[in-house]
Amino acid sequence: MRQLAGTNLPKVGSYNQNVVLDAIRSLGATSRVELAERTGLTAQTISVIVRRLLTDGLVREDGARPSAGPSGGGKPRTTLRVEPTAGYAVGIQFDPGLIAAMLVDLAGSVVAEVRREIHESVRPEEAVALMGKAVRKVVREARIPAKRLLGVGLACPGPIDQELGLVLYPPRLAGWEQVPLASLLAESTGIQVTIDNDATAAAIGERWSGVARNVGNFGYIYMGTGIGGGLFLTNQVYRGPFRNAAEIGHITVAPGGPQCYCGNRGCLEAVACPAAMVADAHKLLADGGAGALAEAYARDPALVDHDALCAAAIRGDALARTVVDRVAGYLADVSVSVANMLDVELIVLGGPALGPVGEIYRDAVAEALASRPIARRVHQVSVSLSPAGCDAGAIGAASLVFHRSYAPLLTTLLSP
Ligand SMILES: [Zn+2]
Repeated sequence: MRQLAGTNLPKVGSYNQNVVLDAIRSLGATSRVELAERTGLTAQTISVIVRRLLTDGLVREDGARPSAGPSGGGKPRTTLRVEPTAGYAVGIQFDPGLIAAMLVDLAGSVVAEVRREIHESVRPEEAVALMGKAVRKVVREARIPAKRLLGVGLACPGPIDQELGLVLYPPRLAGWEQVPLASLLAESTGIQVTIDNDATAAAIGERWSGVARNVGNFGYIYMGTGIGGGLFLTNQVYRGPFRNAAEIGHITVAPGGPQCYCGNRGCLEAVACPAAMVADAHKLLADGGAGALAEAYARDPALVDHDALCAAAIRGDALARTVVDRVAGYLADVSVSVANMLDVELIVLGGPALGPVGEIYRDAVAEALASRPIARRVHQVSVSLSPAGCDAGAIGAASLVFHRSYAPLLTTLLSP
């Protein structure tokens, strides 16, 4: 594992401070000596930065542990950890079917949460009112000091214009076009709002407190109502020059396959999103079949929804398993392409539509990554399910705020 390298040049104090904080966070518990080794900063610089982080309450000293010197009997080193209560953020996941708001502490733990089901016909002003109410509710429940709330993060279905805080034209929300959702929510709550697409937010959350804490290069496949993607390359979130990178859901996996709303055919999303899986199952069931799923379909086709389909696959229903295995195969194909294209170390699968069949997907992707990328003899690419489960979007949204406040962003070094 490699941490971001720091620099001892002047005028980069805040960058270096965030490099050190990032290292303490990802290591969990560490010492000043280890920080110097990991970041390449001098012992003196580390000492100054750690003193400042302790004064600001972002880091705490947590007892001492024996030094790992050659004799094993060196001076004990003081352990440093991030102080979880130093700051909080509210993360909101906004999906055409759901608004979930979570108050998350600096270590990534959920302190309070609220969920509201919504309908695809929801209007922007109605959605903003629901989000504002949810923010006030989780803050009230958690009883945190107002000054510790660093902001609200909002994860939305793409595409978005992050700089202007606009939701551009989400495919499943009729009548939403260029909605300034970030500023509407900021006006309604009086709190600063950071917006991103749900998949990138989930990837940042994974890097902040999930399975990618110590991973500098990974791809994230986010399965919600649609399928999105997020990328971390050389320790930085990668958005592309026009901020539209990582549209993993619109890679062709079924040549000549169904038309996608994006204009392409046979996209991963067009054949593997929940609605496509349900349509696939209905088509097979219309030709007949046996078992509980077929009986349910005969009673009322609407009973065979995504949840029922995934549950049936887990129970061993052959037809449901055929549909799930097909999606697993598509995910495997896409993962190999991402590994070949970007040389990542890890693929993360997450999002609310992963459901109980996540392990089937993970096993298929693992098998493909072990045997198909061209550089597999140079390094192995692994796959993990997001431990955040259905909450990946909301926890990721909260981490947008932490990321903005504390991540060592090269852009801050490069900006004039
Ligand atoms: Zn598409």
